[in-house]
Amino acid sequence: MRHLYVVVDGSRTMEDQDLKPNRLTCTLKLLEYFVEEYFDQNPISQVSTTMQETGNSKKHITALKKAVDMNCQGEPSLYNSLNLAMQTLKHMPGHTSREVLIVFSSLTTCDPTNIYDLIKCLKAVKIRVSIIGLSAEVRVCTVLARETGGTYHVILDECHYKELLMHHVSPPPASSSSECSLIRMGFPQHTIASLSDQDAKPSFSMAQLENNSEPGLTLGGYFCPQCRAKYSELPVECKICGLTLVSAPHLARSYHHLFPLDAFQEMPLEEYQGERYCQGCHGEIKDQNVYICKVCQNAFCVECDVFVHDSLHCCPGCIHEHPAPISV
Ligand SMILES: [Zn+2]
Ligand SMILES: [Zn+2]
Ligand SMILES: [Zn+2]
Repeated sequence: MRHLYVVVDGSRTMEDQDLKPNRLTCTLKLLEYFVEEYFDQNPISQVSTTMQETGNSKKHITALKKAVDMNCQGEPSLYNSLNLAMQTLKHMPGHTSREVLIVFSSLTTCDPTNIYDLIKCLKAVKIRVSIIGLSAEVRVCTVLARETGGTYHVILDECHYKELLMHHVSPPPASSSSECSLIRMGFPQHTIASLSDQDAKPSFSMAQLENNSEPGLTLGGYFCPQCRAKYSELPVECKICGLTLVSAPHLARSYHHLFPLDAFQEMPLEEYQGERYCQGCHGEIKDQNVYICKVCQNAFCVECDVFVHDSLHCCPGCIHEHPAPISV
Protein backbone atom coordinates (compact mmCIF):
# COMPACT_ATOMS: atom_id res chain seq x y z
CA MET A 1 0.00 0.00 0.00
CA ARG A 2 1.29 3.42 -0.88
CA HIS A 3 0.67 6.94 0.29
CA LEU A 4 1.92 9.39 -2.28
CA TYR A 5 1.82 13.15 -1.90
CA VAL A 6 2.24 15.08 -5.14
CA VAL A 7 3.43 18.67 -4.86
CA VAL A 8 3.31 20.96 -7.88
CA ASP A 9 5.29 24.17 -8.02
CA GLY A 10 2.86 27.08 -8.38
CA SER A 11 5.41 29.83 -8.89
CA ARG A 12 5.61 32.33 -11.74
CA THR A 13 8.08 30.10 -13.62
CA MET A 14 5.20 27.70 -14.36
CA GLU A 15 4.06 30.16 -17.00
CA ASP A 16 7.25 29.63 -19.03
CA GLN A 17 6.47 28.42 -22.50
CA ASP A 18 9.31 25.97 -23.07
CA LEU A 19 6.68 23.26 -22.62
CA LYS A 20 3.58 23.78 -24.76
CA PRO A 21 1.34 25.67 -24.19
CA ASN A 22 3.08 26.37 -20.88
CA ARG A 23 4.63 24.41 -18.02
CA LEU A 24 1.51 24.47 -15.86
CA THR A 25 -0.95 23.24 -18.47
CA CYS A 26 1.47 20.58 -19.64
CA THR A 27 2.08 19.40 -16.06
CA LEU A 28 -1.61 19.16 -15.26
CA LYS A 29 -2.30 17.24 -18.45
CA LEU A 30 0.43 14.73 -17.62
CA LEU A 31 -0.69 14.47 -13.99
CA GLU A 32 -4.22 13.61 -15.07
CA TYR A 33 -2.82 10.66 -16.99
CA PHE A 34 -0.52 9.80 -14.10
CA VAL A 35 -3.35 9.67 -11.57
CA GLU A 36 -5.31 7.24 -13.74
CA GLU A 37 -2.32 4.97 -14.24
CA TYR A 38 -1.42 5.16 -10.56
CA PHE A 39 -4.80 3.87 -9.44
CA ASP A 40 -4.77 1.23 -12.11
CA GLN A 41 -1.50 -0.16 -10.77
CA ASN A 42 -2.01 0.64 -7.07
CA PRO A 43 -5.74 0.29 -6.51
CA ILE A 44 -5.56 0.06 -2.73
CA SER A 45 -3.24 3.04 -2.36
CA GLN A 46 -3.81 6.71 -1.78
CA VAL A 47 -2.58 9.85 -3.48
CA SER A 48 -2.84 13.47 -2.46
CA THR A 49 -2.73 16.34 -4.86
CA THR A 50 -3.53 19.93 -3.95
CA MET A 51 -4.10 18.90 -0.35
CA GLN A 52 -6.86 16.38 -0.70
CA GLU A 53 -6.10 12.78 0.08
CA THR A 54 -8.25 10.21 -1.62
CA GLY A 55 -8.33 6.85 -3.26
CA ASN A 56 -10.58 8.11 -6.02
CA SER A 57 -9.07 9.10 -9.34
CA LYS A 58 -12.13 11.04 -10.58
CA LYS A 59 -11.94 13.56 -7.75
CA HIS A 60 -8.32 14.29 -8.59
CA ILE A 61 -9.00 14.74 -12.24
CA THR A 62 -11.75 17.28 -11.54
CA ALA A 63 -9.41 19.14 -9.20
CA LEU A 64 -6.63 19.10 -11.79
CA LYS A 65 -8.94 20.47 -14.49
CA LYS A 66 -9.85 23.37 -12.22
CA ALA A 67 -6.21 24.11 -11.47
CA VAL A 68 -5.56 25.13 -15.10
CA ASP A 69 -7.03 28.53 -14.32
CA MET A 70 -4.75 28.90 -11.32
CA ASN A 71 -2.76 32.09 -11.08
CA CYS A 72 0.91 31.32 -10.90
CA GLN A 73 2.80 33.90 -8.91
CA GLY A 74 5.55 34.48 -6.41
CA GLU A 75 8.30 32.20 -5.24
CA PRO A 76 7.89 28.54 -4.33
CA SER A 77 8.82 27.21 -0.90
CA LEU A 78 10.19 23.70 -0.71
CA TYR A 79 10.21 23.95 3.06
CA ASN A 80 6.56 24.85 3.43
CA SER A 81 5.29 22.22 1.02
CA LEU A 82 7.47 19.47 2.48
CA ASN A 83 6.46 20.42 5.98
CA LEU A 84 2.80 20.20 5.00
CA ALA A 85 3.32 16.82 3.33
CA MET A 86 5.20 15.56 6.37
CA GLN A 87 2.40 16.57 8.75
CA THR A 88 0.01 14.36 6.77
CA LEU A 89 2.30 11.47 5.90
CA LYS A 90 3.89 10.90 9.29
CA HIS A 91 0.56 9.68 10.63
CA MET A 92 0.23 7.01 7.95
CA PRO A 93 0.60 3.47 9.27
CA GLY A 94 4.10 1.97 9.15
CA HIS A 95 3.27 -0.78 6.66
CA THR A 96 2.49 1.72 3.90
CA SER A 97 5.02 3.66 1.89
CA ARG A 98 5.35 7.38 2.56
CA GLU A 99 6.30 9.17 -0.61
CA VAL A 100 6.42 12.75 -1.82
CA LEU A 101 6.79 13.64 -5.49
CA ILE A 102 7.67 17.24 -6.25
CA VAL A 103 7.36 18.87 -9.65
CA PHE A 104 9.80 21.74 -9.28
CA SER A 105 9.92 24.44 -11.91
CA SER A 106 11.77 27.25 -10.18
CA LEU A 107 15.51 27.55 -9.58
CA THR A 108 15.10 29.08 -6.15
CA THR A 109 13.18 28.28 -3.00
CA CYS A 110 12.01 30.74 -0.40
CA ASP A 111 12.22 29.00 2.97
CA PRO A 112 11.35 30.39 6.40
CA THR A 113 14.11 28.40 8.12
CA ASN A 114 16.94 25.96 7.45
CA ILE A 115 15.69 23.26 5.09
CA TYR A 116 18.53 20.88 5.97
CA ASP A 117 17.00 20.37 9.41
CA LEU A 118 13.72 19.42 7.77
CA ILE A 119 15.50 16.92 5.53
CA LYS A 120 16.77 15.18 8.68
CA CYS A 121 13.20 15.01 10.04
CA LEU A 122 11.92 13.58 6.75
CA LYS A 123 14.61 10.93 6.83
CA ALA A 124 13.74 10.07 10.44
CA VAL A 125 10.08 9.42 9.66
CA LYS A 126 11.04 7.46 6.49
CA ILE A 127 9.49 9.79 3.95
CA ARG A 128 10.96 9.32 0.50
CA VAL A 129 11.14 12.50 -1.56
CA SER A 130 11.56 12.40 -5.34
CA ILE A 131 11.81 15.47 -7.51
CA ILE A 132 11.23 16.14 -11.18
CA GLY A 133 12.92 19.39 -12.16
CA LEU A 134 11.60 21.41 -15.09
CA SER A 135 14.52 23.86 -15.38
CA ALA A 136 18.02 22.83 -14.30
CA GLU A 137 19.63 20.91 -11.46
CA VAL A 138 19.31 22.58 -8.06
CA ARG A 139 21.66 21.56 -5.28
CA VAL A 140 19.12 21.41 -2.47
CA CYS A 141 17.01 18.98 -4.52
CA THR A 142 20.00 16.71 -5.08
CA VAL A 143 20.60 16.55 -1.32
CA LEU A 144 16.90 16.10 -0.60
CA ALA A 145 16.55 13.09 -2.91
CA ARG A 146 19.85 11.52 -1.88
CA GLU A 147 19.19 11.80 1.86
CA THR A 148 15.62 10.49 1.75
CA GLY A 149 16.24 7.70 -0.76
CA GLY A 150 14.27 9.27 -3.59
CA THR A 151 15.19 10.14 -7.15
CA TYR A 152 15.93 13.46 -8.81
CA HIS A 153 15.79 14.07 -12.53
CA VAL A 154 15.59 17.14 -14.73
CA ILE A 155 13.43 16.86 -17.82
CA LEU A 156 14.76 17.25 -21.35
CA ASP A 157 11.43 17.66 -23.13
CA GLU A 158 7.75 16.77 -22.75
CA CYS A 159 8.29 13.17 -23.78
CA HIS A 160 11.03 12.69 -21.20
CA TYR A 161 8.84 14.44 -18.62
CA LYS A 162 6.07 11.90 -19.16
CA GLU A 163 8.54 9.04 -18.91
CA LEU A 164 9.93 10.34 -15.60
CA LEU A 165 6.45 10.77 -14.20
CA MET A 166 5.45 7.26 -15.23
CA HIS A 167 8.41 5.82 -13.30
CA HIS A 168 6.48 6.77 -10.18
CA VAL A 169 3.48 4.65 -11.14
CA SER A 170 5.24 1.48 -10.02
CA PRO A 171 5.86 1.32 -6.29
CA PRO A 172 9.42 1.68 -4.99
CA PRO A 173 10.92 -1.52 -3.57
CA ALA A 174 9.60 -2.06 -0.04
CA SER A 175 12.30 -1.49 2.53
CA SER A 176 12.96 -4.37 4.88
CA SER A 177 12.49 -1.99 7.77
CA SER A 178 8.83 -1.34 6.98
CA GLU A 179 6.53 -2.76 9.60
CA CYS A 180 4.55 -5.87 8.88
CA SER A 181 1.00 -6.03 10.08
CA LEU A 182 -2.23 -7.70 9.28
CA ILE A 183 -4.85 -5.45 7.78
CA ARG A 184 -8.53 -6.19 8.00
CA MET A 185 -10.27 -5.85 4.67
CA GLY A 186 -13.81 -6.31 3.49
CA PHE A 187 -14.77 -7.75 0.08
CA PRO A 188 -18.31 -6.57 -0.55
CA GLN A 189 -20.20 -7.85 -3.59
CA HIS A 190 -22.26 -5.44 -5.65
CA THR A 191 -25.83 -6.23 -4.70
CA ILE A 192 -29.10 -4.86 -5.97
CA ALA A 193 -32.15 -5.17 -3.79
CA SER A 194 -34.91 -6.71 -5.90
CA LEU A 195 -38.07 -4.65 -6.27
CA SER A 196 -40.27 -7.55 -5.21
CA ASP A 197 -38.50 -7.59 -1.86
CA GLN A 198 -40.79 -5.92 0.69
CA ASP A 199 -37.88 -4.31 2.53
CA ALA A 200 -36.18 -2.98 -0.60
CA LYS A 201 -35.87 0.76 -0.27
CA PRO A 202 -33.63 2.99 -2.36
CA SER A 203 -30.89 4.60 -0.30
CA PHE A 204 -28.05 7.09 -0.58
CA SER A 205 -24.47 5.91 -0.65
CA MET A 206 -21.95 7.47 1.73
CA ALA A 207 -20.30 9.31 -1.16
CA GLN A 208 -23.62 10.77 -2.24
CA LEU A 209 -24.26 12.09 1.23
CA GLU A 210 -20.87 13.78 1.24
CA ASN A 211 -21.10 15.56 -2.09
CA ASN A 212 -24.24 15.87 -4.10
CA SER A 213 -22.47 15.37 -7.40
CA GLU A 214 -23.63 11.80 -7.93
CA PRO A 215 -27.12 10.59 -8.76
CA GLY A 216 -29.38 10.38 -5.73
CA LEU A 217 -31.24 7.36 -4.40
CA THR A 218 -30.26 3.97 -5.77
CA LEU A 219 -31.13 0.37 -4.98
CA GLY A 220 -27.77 -1.25 -5.60
CA GLY A 221 -24.34 -0.75 -4.14
CA TYR A 222 -21.49 -2.24 -2.17
CA PHE A 223 -22.41 -2.75 1.46
CA CYS A 224 -19.74 -2.78 4.16
CA PRO A 225 -19.80 -6.29 5.67
CA GLN A 226 -19.23 -4.82 9.12
CA CYS A 227 -21.63 -1.90 9.40
CA ARG A 228 -23.75 -2.10 6.23
CA ALA A 229 -22.83 1.42 5.07
CA LYS A 230 -23.35 1.70 1.32
CA TYR A 231 -20.79 2.74 -1.29
CA SER A 232 -21.09 3.10 -5.02
CA GLU A 233 -17.41 2.51 -5.81
CA LEU A 234 -14.50 0.42 -4.60
CA PRO A 235 -11.84 0.64 -3.25
CA VAL A 236 -12.83 2.83 -0.34
CA GLU A 237 -12.19 3.10 3.36
CA CYS A 238 -15.48 2.77 5.23
CA LYS A 239 -16.32 6.14 6.73
CA ILE A 240 -18.28 4.58 9.55
CA CYS A 241 -16.15 1.70 10.81
CA GLY A 242 -12.84 2.36 9.04
CA LEU A 243 -12.69 -1.03 7.28
CA THR A 244 -10.86 -1.04 3.95
CA LEU A 245 -13.26 -2.27 1.28
CA VAL A 246 -11.75 -3.71 -1.89
CA SER A 247 -12.46 -6.26 -4.56
CA ALA A 248 -10.27 -9.33 -5.06
CA PRO A 249 -8.88 -8.16 -8.44
CA HIS A 250 -7.78 -4.90 -6.78
CA LEU A 251 -5.77 -6.87 -4.29
CA ALA A 252 -4.29 -9.14 -6.94
CA ARG A 253 -3.14 -6.14 -8.96
CA SER A 254 -1.26 -4.79 -5.94
CA TYR A 255 0.02 -8.21 -4.94
CA HIS A 256 2.17 -8.75 -8.03
CA HIS A 257 4.40 -5.78 -7.10
CA LEU A 258 5.45 -7.70 -3.99
CA PHE A 259 6.15 -10.96 -5.78
CA PRO A 260 7.19 -10.09 -9.32
CA LEU A 261 7.31 -12.95 -11.80
CA ASP A 262 10.87 -13.88 -12.82
CA ALA A 263 11.78 -13.52 -16.49
CA PHE A 264 11.41 -16.68 -18.54
CA GLN A 265 14.56 -18.25 -19.90
CA GLU A 266 15.05 -17.61 -23.61
CA MET A 267 16.26 -20.57 -25.65
CA PRO A 268 16.74 -21.03 -29.42
CA LEU A 269 14.06 -23.32 -30.82
CA GLU A 270 16.60 -25.78 -32.32
CA GLU A 271 18.10 -26.41 -28.89
CA TYR A 272 14.76 -26.94 -27.22
CA GLN A 273 14.09 -30.62 -26.59
CA GLY A 274 10.50 -30.61 -25.38
CA GLU A 275 7.27 -30.45 -27.33
CA ARG A 276 6.97 -27.33 -29.46
CA TYR A 277 3.67 -26.16 -28.19
CA CYS A 278 2.93 -23.11 -26.06
CA GLN A 279 1.44 -23.62 -22.62
CA GLY A 280 -0.25 -20.22 -22.88
CA CYS A 281 -2.12 -20.17 -26.19
CA HIS A 282 -1.76 -23.90 -26.96
CA GLY A 283 -0.44 -23.05 -30.42
CA GLU A 284 2.63 -24.49 -32.08
CA ILE A 285 5.81 -22.48 -31.41
CA LYS A 286 7.29 -21.40 -34.73
CA ASP A 287 9.42 -18.39 -33.70
CA GLN A 288 13.18 -18.48 -33.32
CA ASN A 289 13.04 -18.77 -29.55
CA VAL A 290 11.03 -20.46 -26.86
CA TYR A 291 10.57 -19.01 -23.38
CA ILE A 292 10.74 -21.37 -20.46
CA CYS A 293 9.46 -20.76 -16.95
CA LYS A 294 12.25 -21.60 -14.52
CA VAL A 295 9.77 -22.81 -11.94
CA CYS A 296 7.37 -25.10 -13.80
CA GLN A 297 9.59 -25.68 -16.90
CA ASN A 298 6.68 -25.02 -19.25
CA ALA A 299 7.43 -23.45 -22.64
CA PHE A 300 5.78 -20.31 -24.01
CA CYS A 301 5.78 -18.44 -27.30
CA VAL A 302 7.04 -14.86 -27.47
CA GLU A 303 3.54 -13.30 -27.49
CA CYS A 304 2.49 -15.24 -24.41
CA ASP A 305 5.76 -14.37 -22.66
CA VAL A 306 5.03 -10.66 -23.15
CA PHE A 307 1.41 -11.05 -22.08
CA VAL A 308 2.28 -13.08 -18.98
CA HIS A 309 4.87 -10.57 -17.76
CA ASP A 310 3.14 -7.32 -18.72
CA SER A 311 -0.49 -8.05 -17.98
CA LEU A 312 -1.07 -11.33 -16.18
CA HIS A 313 1.85 -11.15 -13.69
CA CYS A 314 1.59 -14.86 -12.93
CA CYS A 315 2.67 -17.94 -14.88
CA PRO A 316 -0.28 -20.01 -16.17
CA GLY A 317 1.85 -23.16 -15.91
CA CYS A 318 2.63 -22.56 -12.23
CA ILE A 319 -0.97 -21.61 -11.41
CA HIS A 320 -2.10 -24.87 -12.99
CA GLU A 321 0.17 -26.83 -10.68
CA HIS A 322 -0.23 -24.78 -7.50
CA PRO A 323 -3.34 -22.63 -7.65
CA ALA A 324 -2.69 -19.31 -5.88
CA PRO A 325 -5.09 -18.10 -3.21
CA ILE A 326 -5.87 -15.02 -5.30
CA SER A 327 -6.17 -14.98 -9.04
CA VAL A 328 -7.41 -12.28 -11.35
ZN1 LIG B 1 -18.19 -0.17 7.69
ZN1 LIG C 1 1.53 -18.80 -26.79
ZN1 LIG D 1 5.66 -21.42 -14.42
